[in-house]
Amino acid sequence: MIVKKFYKPRTIVFHNNLLCIPDIGMAYCFYNNNIKQISLKINKTVFLGYSHTKDPIYFNCLKCSHIGYSNTILVKSYTQLILALLTCACSLFSNIGSSIYHSCPICKTKVAYSLLIY
Ligand SMILES: [Zn+2]
Repeated sequence: MIVKKFYKPRTIVFHNNLLCIPDIGMAYCFYNNNIKQISLKINKTVFLGYSHTKDPIYFNCLKCSHIGYSNTILVKSYTQLILALLTCACSLFSNIGSSIYHSCPICKTKVAYSLLIY
């Protein structure tokens, strides 16, 4: 008798690195050319740090246990308004000072955010 086993992938490819699927509440983010593993918190948006990229993070959602990439939303901040006043609105054409929010594509929870520096 042949027993068919369903193969469930246990690894993912993230920025050309083979990694294990993140545990529940864990996330991978790619900053400064290396992969950081961070833990997410319930009802709290985790600060990831300063970033140069708008790349989504790979995470395991605490609320709906969705595993995959996050949706990213670019949000203008007060820092950008101050910069705009100092640079005669020139900085409004770039994304300096904006924050990137990472949200779950299924339950729309904002899980993490980072600040864009250039
Ligand atoms: Zn979710």
